[in-house]
Amino acid sequence: MSFITIDNATRRYPKGVVALDRVSLEIKRGEWLAVMGPSGSGKTTLLNLLGGLDRADEGRVIVDGLDLARIPRPELIRYRRERVGLVFQQFHLIPYLNALENVMLAQYLHSMADQGEAIRALERIGLGDRLRHLPSQLSGGEKQRVCIARALINRPKLILADEPTGSLDAENERAVMDLFAQMHEGGQTIVMVTHDLVIGRRASRQIQLEHGRVAGEFLTHQQDEEAIDEVLEYLWLKGEGEPAAHEICAIGARLATPQLLDRMRVRGILDPENLAFTEEGRRRAEHLIRRHRLAETLFSETFQMHESAVEEEACFFEHILSPVMTDSICGFLNHPPACPHGKPIPRGECCAGRQREVL
Ligand code: ADP
Ligand code: MG
Repeated sequence: MSFITIDNATRRYPKGVVALDRVSLEIKRGEWLAVMGPSGSGKTTLLNLLGGLDRADEGRVIVDGLDLARIPRPELIRYRRERVGLVFQQFHLIPYLNALENVMLAQYLHSMADQGEAIRALERIGLGDRLRHLPSQLSGGEKQRVCIARALINRPKLILADEPTGSLDAENERAVMDLFAQMHEGGQTIVMVTHDLVIGRRASRQIQLEHGRVAGEFLTHQQDEEAIDEVLEYLWLKGEGEPAAHEICAIGARLATPQLLDRMRVRGILDPENLAFTEEGRRRAEHLIRRHRLAETLFSETFQMHESAVEEEACFFEHILSPVMTDSICGFLNHPPACPHGKPIPRGECCAGRQREVL
């Protein structure tokens, strides 16, 4: 299940401004999402909804099982304090507390202040020599780094950051991004708004907002390839008449957005006019299905794994098995014509004249 589900969320402001317009988005636990988009496209509004600072007029925003539009106010405050770290520019530091005390206040509000830990957090972002400075004695970039230390000190499950490197020089920008990368590696979920394409690329996924709507998803090359594979499998299974409830179908069906289908057309994988495979697309889909079903057969016949484990492993192997390995497995299994579910396994070159009988 997703860590965050935004389901048709709409947020309107007076004078007919629709800041978010039926936005739907799933964010997995541990994902690092970059939200890109021009000024006024709704990025801050989206973060405000996720942080429980504002509520959607319509639709739902569910984080970690909590329906933020419906939970009572005290619970919403506890949610903000205990589960979310906000790196927002407008969240000012308390002017009469020094850098260290500002960070320790956040610890205190969460659970218990720990001076040693607060000092280490400030040291990590290069502020070890600014611990006793008041906000008025710090530069803009330093203040922002204190805010970041304050947001991250309690290791929140969800980090929301609005242009976190906005006013930082190159060196500090790198330090802050490395810190985010550490948080990401430690399993925290991050939603980060940024204008900067290079910063955005550090995230595991990027989306683009335009006029309050999700205008596109930009994946890393490998994610893009895997998404294309999922869609190819979905189209193949659909062609076989597989019911859409099938798990793989469900992923592929969801990923088959008009944008991805267009990219597949541009790449010569799909026919320009419809959802039919090109010759190249058919070959790629056939290889995938073959690998998937051979892996399934291998796991069920040879390792006698449970069906759900078979399915999971096969989904993994279909992306990584080389053609040589695939042919070896096929030969080892004596060129089976069908998978354990009885679906045909496309033949490979190794199968010519050697296919075993249907059991
Ligand atoms: P971004 O962060 O992408 O620049 P915002 O989410 O801040 O965009 O704003 C989205 C739209 O909503 C903008 O057109 C903005 O002018 C409008 N907006 C934001 N906050 C308010 C508000 N409190 N009252 C009225 N309009 C607002
Ligand atoms: Mg903004």
